[in-house]
Amino acid sequence: MSTRLGPAERDAAIARLRDPEHELDVLVIGGGITGTGAALDAVTRGLSTGLVESRDWGFGTSSRSSKLVHGGIRYLEQLNFSLVHEALVERGLLLQRIAPHLVRPVRFLYPITKPVIERVYVGAGMMLYDLFARGGGRRPGVPWHRHLGRRRLARDAPGLRRGVFRGGLSYSDAQVDDARYVAVLARTAASYGAHIASRVRVEGFLKVGERVVGVTARDLQRDEVFEIRAKQVVNATGVWTSELQELVGERATFQVRASKGIHLVVPRDRFRSKYGLLLRTEKSVLFVIPWGRHWLIGTTDTDWELDKAHPAATAADIDYLLGHVNRVLKTPLGRDDVEGVFAGLRPLLAGESDETSKLSREHLVAQPVPGLVMVAGGKWTTYRVMAKDAIDAAADALDGRVPASITEDIPLLGAEGYRAAWNRRSRIARAFGVHPTRIEHLLRRYGSLAHEVLDLIRETPELADPLPGADDYLGAEVVYAASHEGALHLDDVLARRTRISIEAWDRGVSAAPVAAALMAGALGWSAERTRTEVDRYLARVAAERASQREFTDEAADRVRLEAPEPGA
Ligand code: FAD
Repeated sequence: MSTRLGPAERDAAIARLRDPEHELDVLVIGGGITGTGAALDAVTRGLSTGLVESRDWGFGTSSRSSKLVHGGIRYLEQLNFSLVHEALVERGLLLQRIAPHLVRPVRFLYPITKPVIERVYVGAGMMLYDLFARGGGRRPGVPWHRHLGRRRLARDAPGLRRGVFRGGLSYSDAQVDDARYVAVLARTAASYGAHIASRVRVEGFLKVGERVVGVTARDLQRDEVFEIRAKQVVNATGVWTSELQELVGERATFQVRASKGIHLVVPRDRFRSKYGLLLRTEKSVLFVIPWGRHWLIGTTDTDWELDKAHPAATAADIDYLLGHVNRVLKTPLGRDDVEGVFAGLRPLLAGESDETSKLSREHLVAQPVPGLVMVAGGKWTTYRVMAKDAIDAAADALDGRVPASITEDIPLLGAEGYRAAWNRRSRIARAFGVHPTRIEHLLRRYGSLAHEVLDLIRETPELADPLPGADDYLGAEVVYAASHEGALHLDDVLARRTRISIEAWDRGVSAAPVAAALMAGALGWSAERTRTEVDRYLARVAAERASQREFTDEAADRVRLEAPEPGA
């Protein structure tokens, strides 16, 4: 079982995808969490499977979420119990079996302002939340909620303004580096034999009568167009669903519209608290989420009809979040405290028709024409269920009996042996002469595959040096991203394999030339190509900063789009 996902593996996958002799059982379009999950689901059922992604693994919404693997406390209030229950079961699976190295518990505070009524009401909700996670004798993987009095709250969250809250409840959910998870999921699918390639864009559908029998795709690295034949094509393109539906040329069975949500990244020392915060706003909720040495603050919810690939956060969005969070902080945050900003688009379902099978309140699977399955909506947390439902629909349409989904029992790469490696972390640190904190960082990102990154350091000790301006990440991680994790451009490494583009004060400007030189070594880039990659990345950062000074979506979008597409 090969676990490497480098340029040679991409070439081999494309050769297999375009081979006219070989028709796939299932071709998945879209390498977000849903499509990548669908590819793993299909290949582990024994189906010959392909997956193409037009940009990078997790490029779309799946790298720009709040990064919570959660049941969603607020859905309880909407009495959407089945959704909460389903998501909490998934949370337990991901935390304990599928990806214990990537998904970890996070503790939140639900502050209260009315001591008796609210405490009883919220306490009942929390009880239900914790019970759902334990349903059927499952281990939840996180501790039970706790009530906190006013004094305890002042001790545990001294950064909160005095007198705003009358105590609260602390409860647990889970969090994940969403982009990293998608890349690991893609690699896992490839290790089971899925033929997967990023930077391959679907540009048309092959049809016999009304039946879809494959797609026309463009390899954006080589600018070559080719055909891929498949018995079933699964469209998992999130907010791009409607564009793909137009390419099919049939009446749409459902529409997906986009709603923008932005997050701010601020240093952890700007606000002292043992917990993250869940705060109520007029329309919804706002999270302040611990994120390594940072806090993530989000999110907003506004319609977005402009560029889908690079949704832009405006100064108004940023001020909205700062205004809300400052209501409860002892020391208010200003724009100068903001290290990073990111914006994502929720794929919201609209206008379902009669043919649509409504599998849950949150996601839909439909078969508008023979040979084509559409899956959209849902949330990151329940990706495995969406993937299973989509492949169930494809399997029903395939000849012969297809086994049921087994992804519940498929740990991602790096999960097996992770806990044992974690327990040995001091010994590993001594053996490689690396500080134990670095080993913990590597284990939390690569699990039991951390030794592959450490082997690079053993061969070339300079790769143990951290990147300029982004001390959390080592040079070896950049090389590994290019050789093993499918990173093809500098942007892939700085924005998704690492999160330097949102975590570093300079958003990766000083890390860019060093990271590009390391990628050049791994991928054989010329000096000119290396320079172009750096220039494009710097242009992206400049355009993002400029767009965040604009006050309207239209102006921010225009400014953001002045930067050329990375890798174009
Ligand atoms: P995407 O990730 O957008 O993937 C679609 C992919 O299709 C893209 O990578 C795109 O490049 C590719 N594509 C498009 N066109 C083509 C083509 N022609 N050819 C090939 N590929 C193509 N959920 C949670 O569970 N927890 C959270 O905390 C959470 N927070 C969120 C916060 C925000 C602000 C937002 C916006 C969403 C949040 N969500 C959360 C929801 C969750 O992020 C999404 O539901 C999920 O990421 C959608 O994944 P997807 O794979 O369907 O879409």
